[in-house]
Amino acid sequence: MSWQDDAGRDLLRTFGDRMAMFVRGEGAYLWDADGRRYLDFLAGIAVNSLGHAHPVFVDAVATQAATLAHVSNYFATPPQLELAARLKRLAGTGESGRVYFGNSGAEANEAAFKLARLHGSTGEKERPRILALTDAFHGRTMGTLALTGKPYMQQPFLPMVPGVEFIDTTIDALEATMDDRVAALFVEPIKGEAGVIDLPEGYLRAAREITARHGALLIVDEIQTGAGRTGEWFAFQHAGITPDAITVAKGIGGGFPIGALITFGAASELFYPGTHGSTFGGNALGTAVSSAVLAEIEAEGLVGNAAERGRQLRTAITGLGSALVEGCRGRGLLIGVGLRHPVAKAVVAAAQEHGLIINAPNDSTIRLVPALNIGDVEIDEFVQLFTAALRTVEDALVLEEASA
Ligand SMILES: *Cc1c(COP(=O)(O)O)cnc(C)c1O
Repeated sequence: MSWQDDAGRDLLRTFGDRMAMFVRGEGAYLWDADGRRYLDFLAGIAVNSLGHAHPVFVDAVATQAATLAHVSNYFATPPQLELAARLKRLAGTGESGRVYFGNSGAEANEAAFKLARLHGSTGEKERPRILALTDAFHGRTMGTLALTGKPYMQQPFLPMVPGVEFIDTTIDALEATMDDRVAALFVEPIKGEAGVIDLPEGYLRAAREITARHGALLIVDEIQTGAGRTGEWFAFQHAGITPDAITVAKGIGGGFPIGALITFGAASELFYPGTHGSTFGGNALGTAVSSAVLAEIEAEGLVGNAAERGRQLRTAITGLGSALVEGCRGRGLLIGVGLRHPVAKAVVAAAQEHGLIINAPNDSTIRLVPALNIGDVEIDEFVQLFTAALRTVEDALVLEEASA
């Protein structure tokens, strides 16, 4: 029996066929069951901030597992309090900020959804409306799916949790839709799953002003953009605004499953005992690992590295002169390479053949989200392998045209 047979028989079919089976990782590299090496520019979808098997990650897991892994949220632990303080400092919440821990992005957004409902139900005004952006992705649970503006994802699971309205991602649409019955606006600062789509210029600043004017919360989903990926600790910081809440996950754990809701100012007082919780959320093991990962990002200047390597990669990609490449979107090390033909899946397959792991969030976009600590060696190798993959697909396109 092959691993493909096992996967096909034993796993629920929520994902399509697995593209490879990996048995080991080190730094920016992965090895499959046949001993073949791959350069990993997906990093577990923006999760492995320090790459694979980083000694800081490994040591944090081993040391904390041997000290105290889990005691439930009836009790405090030093790693949980340390991570909460660290996240408040990095997000710039000041004294009044607070943190709720879950185990994933979806759980962080579930908590944010409930925060929005609390704001809608406990204030002076009733606020039943919640606004979210068309095409933004916030998760797969019933609550976060209701926030995710993709009809094809929602359709088999109707009815949705009510109250969410989707608006176009323009300042005009927000102005036109906003009123004093809106509890919150959810914003994904770069729409990663939709194809690394940037917000319009000035959107976050306008969103802050408009939500504040109407007493609605501004909740920024930093699950993919956070932990330094875009060249700031959090993408909202590029805009110089203060949101009411952000959600984080993916990169903050460096491979350990953890997510968090971070609140600012008055929004920090909405939850009260009994309104939300999680058994695993914020346990000593996960929070110790996340703290170690974030401390390493800070100590090694990896937020700056993300900005610089992002620029270097963009310059290299546009410099390829490939007829297939339209241009780059995103920021820092969250890069969407736009293609002129809907062949992104073929490019991903060709890249894997050449020993490079990348991904296609849609038919005409390649997403690059490598570890934050990549350097010249990885970038040079990426350029070689990506060029080879593009050429394979370009040649196939030329053949197709010739035979058509
Ligand atoms: C990945 C992602 C989520 C969901 O996170 P999970 O850990 O998969 O539940 C939510 N929002 C954004 C922006 C994401 O990129």
